[in-house]
Amino acid sequence: MFDIFIPLKELLFPNSCICCKIPLKDYSSRLCTQCLDSIELISHPICSICGLPFISKNQDDHICGNCILHPPLYSIKRSPFCYTAAVKELIISFKYFYDFLSFSALIDVFNTLEFNLDILDSDVVIPVPLHPKRLRQRGFNQASLIAKRIFKNIPISFNALLRTRNTPHQMGLKKQERLKNVVGAFKVRKKDKIRSKTILLVDDVVTTGATINECCKELLNAGAKEVKVFSLAQAI
Ligand SMILES: [Zn+2]
Ligand SMILES: [Zn+2]
Repeated sequence: MFDIFIPLKELLFPNSCICCKIPLKDYSSRLCTQCLDSIELISHPICSICGLPFISKNQDDHICGNCILHPPLYSIKRSPFCYTAAVKELIISFKYFYDFLSFSALIDVFNTLEFNLDILDSDVVIPVPLHPKRLRQRGFNQASLIAKRIFKNIPISFNALLRTRNTPHQMGLKKQERLKNVVGAFKVRKKDKIRSKTILLVDDVVTTGATINECCKELLNAGAKEVKVFSLAQAI
């Protein structure tokens, strides 16, 4: 149907790429071609446990050397995007500058992917929590928003796991500092939501995995049967 309102809308609110801000001719898209092209997907072959991609593409998925030597506490981890270029820009805009259009744009790109969500099927989704003080400051938990938009068919528990220490931002910290930063930072508050359950832990970005590891430790100590992990992006 011909939409007579679009030209007026374009006149009043010229469309620009929400990532790099260059003007866009096509009103229906939110990202320019260059930004869209800069989105790096995590493509197979990947490690069947940690989900990290193998450099050599001439093989099937298998368990990577790191997971054989140091098996992680989670059973499976998957992420659609590498934490680079436009993905990094969009996540930072959303998380620290409240740009919810950036979040929607990233979810729109995710929805175009043939991403296997079946292997992440679980009894309950738990977004990695923020400390209540930081949640009050920010007004939203980015992990909760991701969980709500992507895992619509699994119950979500927003308060089964608590962040009991208001740790400094992980951004800019070295690996050892990140590990120390989150030790003992999480506590299970509702054991009945955890016990004997398969949990899907959701976060926005996984870098060293220190936060995820600490959450897994706490969930498994509280009696979880298994913990799976999904993050929107993964630092490679
Ligand atoms: Zn752009
Ligand atoms: Zn691995």
